[in-house]
Amino acid sequence: MAETMFDQTTILHAVHTKWAGKTVHFAEEVDSTNEWAKRLSREGEVHGALAVAEFQSAGKGRLGRKWTAPVGSSVMMSILLRPDFEPRLAPMLTIVMGLSAAQAVERMGIKACIKWPNDVVVSRKKICGILTEMSVKEGKIDYVVIGCGINVNLEALPEDIADKATSLCLETGKTYDRNKVLAKVLECFEGNYEQFEKTKDLTLLQEDYNRMLANYGQTVRVLDPLGAYEGIAYGINISGELLVEKADGERVCVGAGEVSVRGLYSYV
Ligand code: ATP
Repeated sequence: MAETMFDQTTILHAVHTKWAGKTVHFAEEVDSTNEWAKRLSREGEVHGALAVAEFQSAGKGRLGRKWTAPVGSSVMMSILLRPDFEPRLAPMLTIVMGLSAAQAVERMGIKACIKWPNDVVVSRKKICGILTEMSVKEGKIDYVVIGCGINVNLEALPEDIADKATSLCLETGKTYDRNKVLAKVLECFEGNYEQFEKTKDLTLLQEDYNRMLANYGQTVRVLDPLGAYEGIAYGINISGELLVEKADGERVCVGAGEVSVRGLYSYV
């Protein structure tokens, strides 16, 4: 079956939101959709504008890692946000997007979980990665850019990620309309963002998030640059920190900034 068209027009038709993704920029190739969204921001682009690319020549992940996906296989998009709240609250938006992407995958009929803080996992493998970047000017948020890469129709994976990544297609054997996947993420994100704005924290989203948390009640290894340790994860608090209880009973709130969390025997 020929793949459904995926371009600016088809995306605009698919997205039914008030503000998220109502302006769409589409390119066959960019360096990274996050970098593109930042450039658009400097040119004055509005809150909710979306940058989508068929291929990224320099796709980025957290902590200087790379995001790679072949042409035609994925949704790679970055949304530009111009919130008027304090910069210290912005990292929570990465949790808001993680939840939204996980809910979108579930709406495609596939059981999804979240690996804290924001990887979406299916069958204990990563199907979506998220990268949030922010610029602050004179103490106020200039922009927040949230990039989201979802493995949709990937039929094979590069060797280096084969054991920890998957795609919607690899999970079900079906091909998916990327316009629909993208639209579902934005629809979920818009609703969740509006919930976040009400309290300026995750009070209204915490329960939904913790229900989808793959690490809940499980032993995790916190790869803290100051020293790795293990403990049992008990979900996120309203700031998005992961609550971990160490073997000696000490409870720590793990911030997403500099650490990765692993399952004891595998990626999740
Ligand atoms: P980790 O997933 O290792 O905990 P992270 O959450 O910081 O780290 P991201 O920033 O979301 O990861 O993404 C970067 C990582 O994702 C890379 O280290 C690479 O191993 C992996 N990766 C790259 N491309 C893909 C892809 N298409 N699908 C799944 N994983 C990928």
